[in-house]
Amino acid sequence: MPMLMSRCKHLGCHTLVPREQVFCDAHKSDIQLYEQRKEEQRKHIKRHTKSYNKQVRSQSEERRQRESFYHSKQWKKIREYVLTRDNYLCQYCLRFGIIRPSKTVDHIVPGQVAPDLITDVDNLSTICYSCHRRKTEWEQGFYKTGYRNDKQKVKKDILLKNISDLPNFSK
Ligand SMILES: [Zn+2]
Ligand SMILES: [Zn+2]
Repeated sequence: MPMLMSRCKHLGCHTLVPREQVFCDAHKSDIQLYEQRKEEQRKHIKRHTKSYNKQVRSQSEERRQRESFYHSKQWKKIREYVLTRDNYLCQYCLRFGIIRPSKTVDHIVPGQVAPDLITDVDNLSTICYSCHRRKTEWEQGFYKTGYRNDKQKVKKDILLKNISDLPNFSK
């Protein structure tokens, strides 16, 4: 994996450091507070995100509800949070050291499969166009998602909630 460099996050410091290090040697004591803030931010957005209403009956009703959600203010806020958190980089590519900027946010476990995870930021990730295309295709096989499969039972017994458990879509 190539070394990703970024500026030390200490206010006013411009020293380049490996990205995962976050702070330069002179400011490395900032890390604790930084991690604490990041965690607070994550908790804040989780707390202030209304849980998605899953008490819907038919598949088509569910789909309609999902689609209107993507036009909501709440989704806009969640999406921005995820993009910033991920530095606008496809996390499926980054896993293999590939740097691919993107503005698309996608559910790790699809909304059709797990409506209760739709607003969960831990189930969201930045994804590039080509990983998204491959992942969507893979989901149709694995989870039986997609319009064509609407009448089939969505496979819900196994939910892969971590990117590291998914196939490599970045090839
Ligand atoms: Zn510094
Ligand atoms: Zn990608």
